[in-house]
Formats: sequence, C-alpha cells, structure tokens
Amino acid sequence: METDIDKIKKISRQKEKEEENWKFRSFLKTCDIADEKIDSIVHKLYRDIFSEIDCQKCANCCIEMIPTLDYEDIDKFSKGSGIPVAEFKNKYLIKNKGSNDYTFNKMPCPFLKNNSCSCYAYRPKDCVAYPHLHKNEFTSRLINVIVNCSICPIVFNVFEGLKQEIRDCDQEEDDDFY
Ligand code: SF4
Ligand code: SF4
Repeated sequence: METDIDKIKKISRQKEKEEENWKFRSFLKTCDIADEKIDSIVHKLYRDIFSEIDCQKCANCCIEMIPTLDYEDIDKFSKGSGIPVAEFKNKYLIKNKGSNDYTFNKMPCPFLKNNSCSCYAYRPKDCVAYPHLHKNEFTSRLINVIVNCSICPIVFNVFEGLKQEIRDCDQEEDDDFY
C-alpha cells in the first residue's frame, strides 16, 4: 500500500497521462458487475485501508479540499466555537454561487492547526463524510473518486484495490480494460 502523498501524486500524474483511471471508469460504467457488488468490494477495501492509515499524520484533505457548509453546519460551528454566525461568515466563509451553501474562504482550511482539526467536534458534515467511500452507489461518483485519488491516500489505495479485485474476478475473461 502506498501512503506517501508525493509518490501518490507522481503515480496519479502518470495514470492521468495514460488515461488509466478514465478507462477503468468507463469499464465500471458498462460492465455487468452489479453496483451492489462493487459497493460491497469498495466498502471492504475502505474498512481495511482506513484501519492502516493515520489521518492525523496525513491531513491532506484539510490542505487541498474545501468543504461545503450548509446552514446546519454553520449553526453547529458557531455554537461549538462561540464565534457568532455573522462573524464566522465574514471572517471564514464565502457563499457558493447559485446555492445557499458556503465554503471556507481559503485553503488549507483555516481551522487546521498543527496538522489537526481544531474544530473536530463541530466540523462540517462534508469533513465527517470525507472520503465518502462508506456510501453506496460508488459508480455514480467516479469523477470525484478519480480527482480524490491524487489527494487522499485512502481513495488512491481503494481504487487500486478495486482494480485488482476485478482483475482477480475476471481472470478467465479477456479483460484488457485498463
Ligand atoms: S474543518 Fe477541520 S476537518 Fe474540515 S477541512 Fe477544516 S481542519 Fe479539516
Ligand atoms: S481522509 Fe484521506 S486525505 Fe484526509 S487525512 Fe485521511 S488519508 Fe489523508
């Protein structure tokens, strides 16, 4: 398993050149493997890989991703931090065009301190759910998964693991899909 984010970025650039992940996406979209089966493989890989990666050492999602906050997130954050909603919005957020949601106004996240989330107990739902691999309907989110492969070591290793599992399942067939 690869956990070094610099190496992951390098490998991801090479895969991007060769369009490997996009070819695999096309395969997953058109193959006859049931979505439920793919979800179940992804969930198992996610549990296994998550247990071996120390997110506190990595924190790369807090460095490279900008979470979305809805009203509920803002209210919870304000209560948890003691920062009034208006001040929180003015200092730290920008409103998304075309929706009522907000995002943090800078990257890395202003609440990342010493590689750790300083608002962990009241962080936004988007942060709690990241990297979203516990969810169903994996094949409906493949564009985001591919983007996240070069940001999150868990996503990178789950996607590579999924390729391997499918190769293993399909060994008897002519599977030159990537
Ligand atoms: S709120 Fe916390 S978990 Fe979310 S991006 Fe910022 S530091 Fe990371
Ligand atoms: S979720 Fe991924 S990017 Fe975020 S800290 Fe954990 S391994 Fe790193």
